[in-house]
Amino acid sequence: MSGSCDYDVVVAGGGLVGGSLAVALAQTDLRVALIEAVPPDSAAQPSFDDRTIALSHGSCKILQQLGLWPLLRDSVFPVERIHISEQGRFGTALIVAAEQGIAELGYVIKGRELGHALWQKIGDLPTLDVICPGTVTATSQSVSSCRSLTVATQGQERRIETQLLVVADGARSALRAALGVGASRDDYEQTAIVANVQVAKRYTGHTAYERFTPDGPLALLPGIDGRYTVVLARPSDNAEALLQLDDDNFLQVVQSCIGMRLGRLQKLGQRSSYPLELVQTAALTTSRAVMIGNAAHGLHPVAGQGFNLGLRDVASLAEILADAARSEHALDAGAESLLAEYAAWRDQDQRNVVRFTDGLIRLFGRKGRMLAAGRGLGLAAFDLFPAGKRELARQTMGLGGRVARLARGLPL
Ligand SMILES: Cc1cc2nc3c(=O)[nH]c(=O)nc-3n(C[C@H](O)[C@H](O)[C@H](O)COP(=O)(O)OP(=O)(O)OC[C@H]3O[C@@H](n4cnc5c(N)ncnc54)[C@H](O)[C@@H]3O)c2cc1C
Repeated sequence: MSGSCDYDVVVAGGGLVGGSLAVALAQTDLRVALIEAVPPDSAAQPSFDDRTIALSHGSCKILQQLGLWPLLRDSVFPVERIHISEQGRFGTALIVAAEQGIAELGYVIKGRELGHALWQKIGDLPTLDVICPGTVTATSQSVSSCRSLTVATQGQERRIETQLLVVADGARSALRAALGVGASRDDYEQTAIVANVQVAKRYTGHTAYERFTPDGPLALLPGIDGRYTVVLARPSDNAEALLQLDDDNFLQVVQSCIGMRLGRLQKLGQRSSYPLELVQTAALTTSRAVMIGNAAHGLHPVAGQGFNLGLRDVASLAEILADAARSEHALDAGAESLLAEYAAWRDQDQRNVVRFTDGLIRLFGRKGRMLAAGRGLGLAAFDLFPAGKRELARQTMGLGGRVARLARGLPL
């Protein structure tokens, strides 16, 4: 299908999002290559680490359709309720799966386990060409209908031509910059500290907690071994001191934020930290290239939206390319019409999620009393009115706007 190019599609970046797209496109007749700089089993792999990823209902359907679920079944843990509250304020909100007519709102999984399952699947796909370790170091538009890539792999340089380059190299995307596409960067001046804790036995269950505190949000996500993952966002100038605290003192900080609703927190695991910023690409597409996942939108982890949004990028792009491959004899995967369809489809969802996550941080990050009182009443009122709650639940489940076939549990 690729005419004079080596490939129809080259995916640059085999992290959680780029790797998922490669698996999806392997279901089509397209000639696809995946290029990833850091091997999946390396300790330096930036996409697969100790962070816990909350998968929305829609994401789980996509992963099922990608054939990943049998590889994930033993690592995922269902979330049936999300409890939202604000420290020191009246009013809580509860989103319950059963009220939405489903068994679970989504699942949680360790990023490392999701990454390993993804690459196990990638290793089983005979039609997918994988270059790993391989780094795309430069790109240019060639005179033909191809984009040229320079790929550094094990001390050598290769040139590869593709109709479409998918840029999935993360929020600090060097390829986005190499394409001449700008990005806005908004530093939250917060750092997320992630660690496992044990909660009192009678509180282990299927409820995730999102707690807003004056210094930043705290999430507690349930896990398979009865342990919870803490995601504590704190002002960056205080984060180093928190990382240096001994385990008991750090647990006390978390305990003072969440109160006793999970009993006494104990047995803190290893802490890791992530500086937080909002990164938004100036354009989702440019000539024969498209930005997906964090390369398009790097978000604050509040409400666990980043990978879910990226997976919807994957489902939409895969659907557009699969449909075009079915209907066109001489497909040009990098055709402007396809890229325009992609950008039009994804733009609203991405804006909504950015507004939602960024809005939460800005709303709960302000310390005015009036706002605080309004927020408390808002949470209580929100809990009483089913329509608003249903809409939030739909967004949280990844079911807002135009929904791709994969996210509806249908084949590509
Ligand atoms: C603390 C924390 C908690 C989170 N929790 C959630 C959650 O609960 N739910 C959720 O949906 N999201 C969550 N997220 C967000 C989620 O982790 C990210 O959205 C997701 O990992 C982005 O994946 P990606 O593949 O787009 O980018 P990345 O993970 O950055 O992967 C990019 C890949 O590209 C490779 N690469 C880079 N440059 C090149 C190159 N030139 N050539 C080839 N390869 C290259 C890198 O090695 C890497 O493998 C969380 C994030 C954080 C920090």
